Amino acid sequence: MPNLTRLYPAARRFEALPSSVNQLENSTDKAQIAVIYTGGTIGMVESDKGLVPGDKMPERLLKQLETLPEARLSSLPTFDLVTLPRLIDSSNATPQDWLELNRLIRSYTKQYRAFIILHGTDTLAYTASALSFLLPKSLPCIVTGSQYPLEKEASDALGNVEASLLVANSLIKEALTTEHTNTPHLTQKAGLIVFGDKILQGNRASKVSTYSPQGFDSINLPPLGTCSEGKLQWAETKTVTEQVSDSETHFPEIKAEAVDEIPQVVILKLWPGIQAQQVESLLAAPVKGVILESYGSGNAPDLNQPLLAAFKAASDRGVVIVNRSQCPQGSVSMSYAAGSALADAGIISGYDMTCEAAFSKLTLLFLSDLTADEVKDAFNRNYCAERSV
Ligand code: ASP
Repeated sequence: MPNLTRLYPAARRFEALPSSVNQLENSTDKAQIAVIYTGGTIGMVESDKGLVPGDKMPERLLKQLETLPEARLSSLPTFDLVTLPRLIDSSNATPQDWLELNRLIRSYTKQYRAFIILHGTDTLAYTASALSFLLPKSLPCIVTGSQYPLEKEASDALGNVEASLLVANSLIKEALTTEHTNTPHLTQKAGLIVFGDKILQGNRASKVSTYSPQGFDSINLPPLGTCSEGKLQWAETKTVTEQVSDSETHFPEIKAEAVDEIPQVVILKLWPGIQAQQVESLLAAPVKGVILESYGSGNAPDLNQPLLAAFKAASDRGVVIVNRSQCPQGSVSMSYAAGSALADAGIISGYDMTCEAAFSKLTLLFLSDLTADEVKDAFNRNYCAERSV
């Protein structure tokens, strides 16, 4: 059972809440934001084995928030901190964790207008991508974390929490007012990443540094805004309108029993000298999908016929293979002979999607009631502005 605490940054206090969220209905001053602590460096403490997720997050977070300048502290909203019973290093996260977060958030949507997930950075972009597909587009859900633990000197943790609260507050205000505000009308509010001084669309972003406070970037989509030292600035409307999607199409519904059987999707990166027999076991059942990381604009060695035959055989068996580039900037076009050979083998385009978005999208599509051909068609749709074209 998650543990709930309400934090009042401006009043410098917190209080433990009944653990059942339904009992919060009667509370007089409601918090509109739920911050869900899942683990990750942001809350880690030293142990004999190295850094591990630490507990007592409400006390620790309030203590750090109190170090902010008065004006910044008092502009922060009240929020409820939900501590998950099992805190993890995010390198342990699995698609089950995405589904459980989705379930938890959905069970709280009557009580809260916005969500902030405190998450480890290692798989943060996978979780943000998955939540972008799983949650309603209009539900503000921000994923953040930090490169350094909360209590470490000059840590980026506090700044990221402060920025996430300001972004969540801004999106709540925008939803509540019909008047013109400074907040742009984002179409995709679920799965944003707030990190460093950037607000990024999570399903377009990747972790780009193991140490820099600017740990995430979205190479193929400019930041949606910036937030640093208490100052929030949304990007020009033009950037925001680049959040293009097949707006009216909804991501296929996930099967209820899905959580017991996660379909196998693998990530396969081409390398010079790759041989068919080295990949055959990776393409074999029960694998259902492959994110193929090709070269440049979507190329594979077309002189290597056994390799192409192995891809074609897998594709003919119903394995869905998505071609995306190892190169972070730009899209696959499969316009070279070396690229069209992949299309001939039944492989579909991943356009300019990040590996994290392509992987979570394909995994989640296999959790819906679709045939392999329907999964291919569905993958081709741009549901949550997860690609440029
Ligand atoms: N290994 C950590 C994790 O992903 C790294 C971090 O949080 O920055 O949980």
